[in-house]
Amino acid sequence: MAASPAAAAASTPAGRLKGKKCIVTAGAQGIGRATVLAFLREGASMVVAVDINKEKLQTLEGIPGVVTKHLDVRDGAGVRGLAQEMKDVDVLFNCAGYVHQGDILSTTEEEWDFSFDVNVKSMYHFIQAFLPAMIEKRKGSIINMSSAASTLRGIEQRAVYGATKGAVIGLTKGVARDCVQKGVRCNVVCPGPIATESYKERCQDLEDSDKGHIDYIVEKLMGRLATPEEVANLCVYLASDEASYHTGNVFTIDGGFCL
Ligand code: NAD
Repeated sequence: MAASPAAAAASTPAGRLKGKKCIVTAGAQGIGRATVLAFLREGASMVVAVDINKEKLQTLEGIPGVVTKHLDVRDGAGVRGLAQEMKDVDVLFNCAGYVHQGDILSTTEEEWDFSFDVNVKSMYHFIQAFLPAMIEKRKGSIINMSSAASTLRGIEQRAVYGATKGAVIGLTKGVARDCVQKGVRCNVVCPGPIATESYKERCQDLEDSDKGHIDYIVEKLMGRLATPEEVANLCVYLASDEASYHTGNVFTIDGGFCL
């Protein structure tokens, strides 16, 4: 009898993504970048880092296995073009997101639409472009980036951000349901505050709610923020065959932030 995918993966603890081709959006910085590097360490044969920031992408160039792609995740035609170039992707990590600061009364219609375009519609573009080839080979893992600020927890000054991240959970479950018999898994990651460049920048803003969260986490919870690498480790698991029975599942990684 053939070994189950999980048993096969368990017998090879290192190289959990051996030979897999992966795409990571927002791959130049923060959690996305940490995940690009973690996927490579686990044996991925190719990781495409998609980002809008050319300079940061350049710092990944020359690393064996990394392909950089300068692309705005809102550009549907560009995403479809990328899918034409790369037909056999095994793992899609939709990581790109924008944190809008403001309550519902101060959020303009333009800001609302921009947030949904970057945080949710981008996933529509990427999943629609890359899913058909995954279904064809009956294998694939899609990981979507949500947040603790979603259906899990209300955060001050994050009205539209929380709405987009809640939508990502709904999208994930819908895709997972439609693909459950087609060999493709789709899961969602919900981090609490993570020590990334953008998080640190937000904390410099005296008005921003994230600033107060650090004191709470340091004094009452784990005593430190999570690192991008800790989220990347979770993404490695979800991308790997070890996670073969997970689909439509919500993975909170928050050190108790939602307790
Ligand atoms: P970051 O903000 O440090 O970096 C984001 C990257 O995305 C940058 O390299 C930027 O150039 C790129 N980017 C932005 N807009 C883009 C676009 N339109 N097209 C392509 N690339 C674009 O990233 P981070 O803090 O690691 O956050 C990554 C994801 O994790 C986001 O979806 C965010 O909402 C989510 N998240 C972050 C935290 C946190 O505390 N940092 C917590 C929960 C969820």
